[in-house]
This record gives sequence, structure tokens and C-alpha cells, in this order.
Amino acid sequence: MSEPIRPKPQPGILDIAPYLPGKSGRPGSQAVKLSANESPLGASPKALAAMIEASAHLEIYPEGSSRLLREALGEVHGVDPTSIVCGNGSDDLLHLLAQVYLGDGDEAVMNRYGFSVYPIVTRAAGAKIVLVEERDYRADVDALLAAVTKRTKVVWLANPNNPTGTYLSDAEVRRLHAGLRPDILLVIDSAYAEYVTAADYSVGLDLVREQQNVVMVRTFSKMGLAAIRIGWLVGPDHVVDALHRIRGPFNVNLPAQMAGAAAARDEEFTQRLREHNAHWRDWLTAELSSNRLRVIPSQANFIMILFDTPDMAAKAFETLADSGYIVREIGPSYGIGNGLRISIGTEEAMRMVAKVLKSMDKTQ
Ligand SMILES: *Cc1c(COP(=O)(O)O)cnc(C)c1O
Repeated sequence: MSEPIRPKPQPGILDIAPYLPGKSGRPGSQAVKLSANESPLGASPKALAAMIEASAHLEIYPEGSSRLLREALGEVHGVDPTSIVCGNGSDDLLHLLAQVYLGDGDEAVMNRYGFSVYPIVTRAAGAKIVLVEERDYRADVDALLAAVTKRTKVVWLANPNNPTGTYLSDAEVRRLHAGLRPDILLVIDSAYAEYVTAADYSVGLDLVREQQNVVMVRTFSKMGLAAIRIGWLVGPDHVVDALHRIRGPFNVNLPAQMAGAAAARDEEFTQRLREHNAHWRDWLTAELSSNRLRVIPSQANFIMILFDTPDMAAKAFETLADSGYIVREIGPSYGIGNGLRISIGTEEAMRMVAKVLKSMDKTQ
């Protein structure tokens, strides 16, 4: 049989497994969503006020380069606003990076349980994704370096990583960078930077400043503004220049720019979220660590827990859902069938999740 003649996607596009977002619970249910690492304390009140202010003139195009947002970020993080590119969520920036630096015949390297958007953007650009084994759910610098070939153009590193919550120290990231050729772009995705408490961690800004082949990608999504989609990136001038050429000319809307700028300056709210998260992340980790359950130490705003078997993980998922708590199954998108990822939520949610899982533990 001959194939019908019709528009055909580029090679590789139909091999992409679509991104699986965290579930929200059954329609109309009052379930608490602990599956997408959203803020349990809402958004910064200052960001909400800025959003309302912005809504007065929805007929006007936004300033295309997100200048007011870049200026706020520059001020708060001590970087030159001209080194920043903003995006419609950091996913937007990851796609742009892949389009600029990857093409047919190229390879991008990532750790096996790295963020599931990297294979999507890599394949969408026509390149091949190379998955590298980890050491106990942590990126392995030596293995990543060993996977580099002459075709490698990009290394994707989420630090801390989603869905495992593990991180690489500043020294390890520097060792990774030092082992890469200067024509390979190291993308440090610090989506959870605000939540890190480890003293030997670095967001990656120093490396960006010192080198010509490193970018740091950030997001507001995990800090209370997931709905309005704001990502940002800091990179060397030549990378920034290339990204500006292909990004959507108005890729961040004005309400998002204004809310993002206000949120960036609201360091008190950031601090409140960070402290809430650190407290309940440590509490939940200690509560759940038992002889039957393994909690991987996390630096992010979620924890990954490992059961003996995928069946036990599935049963825990169902039992939590029946109790009104939707967590993330990480078999389907990440291949960790015996794992669940639980976002750090309110005190009430954390106490209930611990209670449900501990009562299951006893009956097994
Ligand atoms: C959530 C997440 C992002 C995506 O953030 P958006 O700005 O919402 O697109 C990027 N990287 C990692 C590692 C994440 O977990």
C-alpha cells in the first residue's frame, strides 16, 4: 500500500513521547495537588497587585525584550540586564536553546533521570538525546563526560534535578564544565535554586560570568507564578544575541513581566516560601524514612520516595488519591516505577500524607 500524500512532520518528531503533566485529581474534586511542585503559599501579594495594574491596558503590545523584568532580575541577582533573556516559562527557553545549538546529526547529553523536557526539545530540533546512567539517582560527572562524542553540542543539567531532588555541588559542576570542549554548551537549569539549603551548592552564575559556553536557566513557576509562565536565562553575549534572533517577538506578556518583576523584588515572600519548604521537606523526609520506604534526600520543593516494588508505589498513589492527595507517579515519564514524587505542600497536607503513608507501611 502506498502512503497517503500529506504534510509530514520532520524526522524524529513522531518519536517524541508527549510531556506528561502532574495530575490534578478527578474533575470537580477538592483534591490537593502535590504533583507539579507548585507553591503551597500562593503567589507574592506584590506580584498579584502588579498583575491587576497591568490589566488596565491589555490592548497595548508588551515591550518585547521584557526590559522591566530583566532590570528587576538584574538588580536582585547582581547581573547585567543585557545578559538576560526572558521566556514564556523556562520551557520556552529550553526549546530556543535546542533550536539554536542542536540539529540533525548532533547529540545532547543528559543524566538518565534528568528533566523530561530535555529529550523533547532535543528531538524537536532533530538531534539525538544520549541518556547517561546515574549513581544512586544522582548525576555522575565522570559518566556524563565519558558520553561526550565529537557530535555532542549540548549538556543538559537540572541542578537540583527533577524528579529526584538530588544536586551536584559547585565543585562537581565545575569539574563537569572543565571536562567539556569549549564548543559544547553546558545548560545549568536551576529551576529549584530558591529552595536549596546545601552550603556547597551554586546556582551557576559565577560559571556563566567566567565562561563562554555556560548558561543558567531559571523559572518563577516553582515560586508561585506557574500560571503566568515566566522563565529567564543568563548567558554570554553571543548566546543572548542568538536567542533574541529567534524568540517570539513578544514572548512574555505584560502582566507576566510586571508580576515577575514585583515577585523578584519581593524577597520577603521568597524567604517565607524557602523557610516553609525547608522545614516541611526535612520533616516529611524524617517521618517517611523507614525500613520499607526510602526517601532520597532532596534540595528541591518535593521529595522522591522509593518503594520496594512498583505495585506498592501504585497502591500508595491510589491510597493517597482516595484521601484527597494527588502526587506524581514517576514510572510513566521517568521509568522509576517504584517511585512517587511528592511536592512539599501546606502543613496540613504534609501531616496527612505522612499519616496515610505510615498507616500503609504498618499494614504491609
Ligand atoms: C518545572 C521545571 C522547569 C519548567 O519550568 P517552566 O518555567 O514552568 O517552564 C524547568 N526545569 C526543571 C528542572 C523543572 O523542574
